[in-house]
Amino acid sequence: MLALPGTGAHGYGGEKGRRTSPIRISRRHFVAGAGAGLAAGTAHAQPRAEAAGQPDPRLGTPPPLPEDRQLGFAVVGLGKLALGEIMDAFVAARRAKVTALVSGNRDKALRVAARYGVPETGIYDYGNFDRIAENPAIDVVYIALPNALHAEFAIRAFRAGKHVLCEKPMTTTLEDCERMIAASEAAGRKLMVAYRCQFEPHNLIAMRTLRRGELGAVRVVTADIGRGTDPNDPSDQWRLKRALAGSGSLFDIGIYGLNAARFLVGEEPVEVRAQLYKKPGDPRFTEVEDVVVWTMRFPGGAQFHGSTSYSYAFTNAIQVTCDNGVLVLNPSMEYHAQRLQIRDRVIQMSPIDQFAREMDHFCMAITEGLPVVADGAEGMQDVRLMLAILEAGRTGRAVSTDWGYRRAADPATSVPDGLGVA
Ligand code: NDP
Repeated sequence: MLALPGTGAHGYGGEKGRRTSPIRISRRHFVAGAGAGLAAGTAHAQPRAEAAGQPDPRLGTPPPLPEDRQLGFAVVGLGKLALGEIMDAFVAARRAKVTALVSGNRDKALRVAARYGVPETGIYDYGNFDRIAENPAIDVVYIALPNALHAEFAIRAFRAGKHVLCEKPMTTTLEDCERMIAASEAAGRKLMVAYRCQFEPHNLIAMRTLRRGELGAVRVVTADIGRGTDPNDPSDQWRLKRALAGSGSLFDIGIYGLNAARFLVGEEPVEVRAQLYKKPGDPRFTEVEDVVVWTMRFPGGAQFHGSTSYSYAFTNAIQVTCDNGVLVLNPSMEYHAQRLQIRDRVIQMSPIDQFAREMDHFCMAITEGLPVVADGAEGMQDVRLMLAILEAGRTGRAVSTDWGYRRAADPATSVPDGLGVA
């Protein structure tokens, strides 16, 4: 298998289920692997549809549309996420195909293009990026750059007449969020922030179980989501620089706990409190905070407490304690392996490709004129809340977050089922 730079361990430090298959795997095989039913000891049994050579529609993996009905994507930034996950997701996607690459490293881009069948005419760098306007094979720009660069490339993509799927966090400042939303509206093109967990079956089952009130009222949500960082790893180097990352682990992975708390409770927090900590003398944390411990109060009475860090062991555990039972998602945000426990019932499904589902959702929203699950306002809400959490940590005071935001689309109800899990 061709070795590409930047395909080492992914940015989150968790290695479970990491994809190692060759790229030119057929979609049928890919679907078979992804939809291999539930693991032993789980709640439901599902037919192994691949045995008959047919994708199981309940697993949400119908065959891809003909190429002329798929939307073309330009992937911007060929780093760990793009090379480790996004490029392969096009194999599993139904409505999305990759037609262009944008990179500062032409040799790498050429190798990736050859591997994924992207024509050389579809290779751009950051300087000539605006020429994507002349390429009708590009409908969507998928931004996988360091956080602080998202706004510039999203705005340039909108000016080129393209739709934008932007990695989380949407960007690092409220001003940039507003500029991105304004550019999207001015261009009449859609903006979606890539919250893949909102398309992930275990997370969706958790949301739907709570919305149905099966466990009674949500009382307390806890989330501890963090990992270590290696200052020698280029993918971690920008994460430790305020100008590129915005802040430390909160903007990178703490955001998963924040976003999950919001979609699990189904409300918006009205007050946050926080403490920030960095170990004296740790050279990694000269610009960004390390540990953030924070609480949030929701208007219906639910409380959140959680933490994030760039120096503790990789963990991504979420627990929801309700009046009549406890729900645990652990792991909650791996790429290819989650585990959900609802009271004593364990649900551990074989992985689906969250990135493919997210891209397909965006394509469907574009072609059919539907709202996207995580639009610009939704991405901006997390940025605004994270800035409030950091302010609470810096000042030691509670910060009101009761600014009246209401999300346009609840993933619990607006992400189509098709997974046989609702
Ligand atoms: P990497 O550092 O691995 O990749 C970023 C790429 O951006 C680089 O490889 C480089 O690509 C390009 N780049 C352009 N300018 C710069 C610069 N000044 N410094 C560094 N890189 C630059 O980061 P990740 O792939 O881990 O993360 C990218 C984005 O994706 C982040 O916003 C992150 O939050 C998000 N992410 C989301 C995940 C998810 O599960 N949804 C998981 C991991 C990350 P090139 O060499 O081609 O120019």
